[in-house]
Amino acid sequence: MEKQESTLMEKVLFKIAKQWIAGDTMEDALKSARQANINGMGAILNKLGEHMTSKAQVSQTVSDYLTLVSNLRRSKISGGLSVKPTQVGLSINTKECLENLDKIIEKALQSQSFVWIDMESSEHTDVTFKIYLNLFEKYERLGVVIQSNLKRTQDDLKMLLEKCAKIRLVKGAYHETPKNAYRTRHEVDENYKKLMLTLFEQGNEFAIATHDSKLIDLAINLSKKHEKKFEFQMLKGIRDEIKPILVKSGFLVSEYIPYGTNWLPYSIRRLRERKRNILLLGSSFIHSHRV
Ligand SMILES: Cc1cc2nc3c(=O)[nH]c(=O)nc-3n(C[C@H](O)[C@H](O)[C@H](O)COP(=O)(O)OP(=O)(O)OC[C@H]3O[C@@H](n4cnc5c(N)ncnc54)[C@H](O)[C@@H]3O)c2cc1C
Repeated sequence: MEKQESTLMEKVLFKIAKQWIAGDTMEDALKSARQANINGMGAILNKLGEHMTSKAQVSQTVSDYLTLVSNLRRSKISGGLSVKPTQVGLSINTKECLENLDKIIEKALQSQSFVWIDMESSEHTDVTFKIYLNLFEKYERLGVVIQSNLKRTQDDLKMLLEKCAKIRLVKGAYHETPKNAYRTRHEVDENYKKLMLTLFEQGNEFAIATHDSKLIDLAINLSKKHEKKFEFQMLKGIRDEIKPILVKSGFLVSEYIPYGTNWLPYSIRRLRERKRNILLLGSSFIHSHRV
């Protein structure tokens, strides 16, 4: 009975999650990326999957990213990649991850595609920056992510700005302990504002990745004072009404487009971000249970 219920819950969750994911296949991802371009946005493609410990799985993921980059070029799609370290070897060892990212970035460079290294939970922060800075010495078109929910991030930003790193600012999607992370939404937002101000004052070529209107408005105001190369980044299927407004106002906007069959962890993070999504899941589950 319990197993039946969890399968049913997964089915209900998939119905909700579909809005955030391009589909199962690379072709689905390319189709969504093409649509993002038609809508005036760049595309940032991510193959779903994380914490891979099998070498075979990791090499399949690396090979998929290499094919994806070639397909982007062949299809003349303006877009890049966002790769999670633990999907390309970090859960095996650092060397494996570094070598695999190197292969992906080298290929992406040939296609003029930008690569972002996603940031995962805080146990991976130090090693992710280490890998990023190592590769950034070789590849310029490479970015890394900082999270405003972590107390360490002000120091990280200072260190990264000294190296002229390309930075994406997010709130942070992972569950963290009170020792290293801010607990309240207010604290996370206030830290986001401070980090964003530093980026506009001292950085260049960065990404403001949020769906939060008050933070987007603040970025628009700061961009009037500081002429900086930056873009807004948002996830597929979230705040779709605001994306064309930003594009029309002349801002660069990119859409983060995940694809693949390993959709559950990503979807749970999206679900947790908004109470209304959890309520929707609950009511859909009750509804599907009745019929
Ligand atoms: C391009 C991009 C890349 C990212 N990369 C990373 C990364 O590498 N590492 C990492 O930890 N996190 C990453 N994130 C996720 C990020 O950390 C947040 O978890 C996520 O963006 C939600 O925070 P928010 O800034 O939109 O603010 P929130 O306060 O969560 O949301 C603001 C408003 O946006 C809307 N909204 C937000 N989420 C949803 C949702 N799921 N469904 C419906 N509406 C919603 C609602 O209107 C909400 O009121 C990324 C986010 C983006 C946009």
